[in-house]
Amino acid sequence: MRSHLLNDTTAEQYRRSVTEGVERVAAKLATTGRPFTGVTVDALSPRIDGIDLDEPLHDTTAALDELEDVYLRDAVYFHHPRYLAHLNCPVVIPAVLGEAVLSAVNSSLDTWDQSAGGTLIERKLIDWTCARIGLGPAADGVFTSGGTQSNLQALLLAREEAKTEDFGSLRIFASEVSHFSVKKSAKLLGLGPDAVVSVPVDRDKRMQTVALARELERCTKDGLVPMAVVATGGTTDFGSIDPLPEIAGLCEQYGVWLHVDAAYGCGLLASLKYRDRITGIERADSVTVDYHKSFFQPVSSSAVLVRDAATLRHATYHAEYLNPRRMVQERIPNQVDKSLQTTRRFDALKLWMTLRVMGADGIGELFDEVCDLAAEGWRLLAADPRFDVVVQPSLSTLVFRYIPADVTDPAEIDRANLYARKALFASGDAVVAGTKVAGRHYLKFTLLNPETTTADIAAVLDLIAGHAEQYLGDSLDRAS
Ligand SMILES: *Cc1c(COP(=O)(O)O)cnc(C)c1O
Repeated sequence: MRSHLLNDTTAEQYRRSVTEGVERVAAKLATTGRPFTGVTVDALSPRIDGIDLDEPLHDTTAALDELEDVYLRDAVYFHHPRYLAHLNCPVVIPAVLGEAVLSAVNSSLDTWDQSAGGTLIERKLIDWTCARIGLGPAADGVFTSGGTQSNLQALLLAREEAKTEDFGSLRIFASEVSHFSVKKSAKLLGLGPDAVVSVPVDRDKRMQTVALARELERCTKDGLVPMAVVATGGTTDFGSIDPLPEIAGLCEQYGVWLHVDAAYGCGLLASLKYRDRITGIERADSVTVDYHKSFFQPVSSSAVLVRDAATLRHATYHAEYLNPRRMVQERIPNQVDKSLQTTRRFDALKLWMTLRVMGADGIGELFDEVCDLAAEGWRLLAADPRFDVVVQPSLSTLVFRYIPADVTDPAEIDRANLYARKALFASGDAVVAGTKVAGRHYLKFTLLNPETTTADIAAVLDLIAGHAEQYLGDSLDRAS
């Protein structure tokens, strides 16, 4: 069994084994004609259930053959130009290379003595990101597992900075279309059930600052403590960007922590054309960025950044075995002092390789392309009488629904759209997402693949219309 340990004596097996895996994936990519096969849970479950984990195959090729059957054949492929559903990007090759290196060396970024250069690389990328945002000379941050953890950590810092033991009095203000991880964080942080105040949005799905001002005023009048405003720099559904400068002004006025959730919109930090859309982010106290959404990085790759490094102390705990207090005096950089995690992947290496090979402009160029594609898609939808489209995109999502010419019952229109999404998924021809707008069912394209064309968008819209019409036709038959 020792032959399976990666070390100086097994280099050849390592090379062969990983190369074989890479060859399989490369072959798969070359022959995948659809983003999905449409496999059902019922069809796939028995294949996985049928495998006895206590009966190993003792052979890499056999295990890869089996993997083809239980995973690769029916996986959902984000690289396919007709995968248009969630915030998943196709990944860039330098990052995948970084992934291969980081898991082989297996550094753990909690302490200097488990990572050395890894810690310094991560810190440099954090400084780079802070500089892109414009957070100033005292800024700092740390890589996290994703936007959910970044938001949680930012709100932990905000809670501590609010300097009250009375958690029930704390209030967080976030727009009604902000990410659900804000509410989840409030719960994890021990705040009360009414802690998150939902601020209404305007027609473009951006937080109404007049309403925010009113809520802040009311909160203070009621003797409650405004803990944080979460402005979203690219909402998950609409890509809408809250008016950051106005919100920052209100936060200054009321002395409230400003967190900007740019999990999605962070791609603008590298943009060559649209950087100004996220102006105001530099006034945040903390920022969430998901490189695994708009920097074309493999999952996971995310960070939380703060204006004042000192605030990260709220996540600092010392353990004799790991990061004793004296190491701080010795100026030994232990990233665990800033992190909610202990053992932690060297995800930063993926971004490092990306920046060293392609450069930030390379990423920005790709992100600009998908923003331009969304603008084209919006023009298509707005000109097409079969569809109702919600907002003109600031980033790269499109929310719309099919509206049949001769049906007026909104519930029936809902059902037709739900059916179209399901039927499309089952066909595997394309994958799209769904959401609700004002209580009604809508469909969503999240465009993160520069290989997707307007012709793809037009073709998928035709498929959607076809499925919806099929449903309505069948529904008429059922009624008669
Ligand atoms: C995706 C998203 C999150 C959550 O990030 P994960 O990486 O999925 O944990 C938070 N906020 C916004 C606005 C998002 O789009």
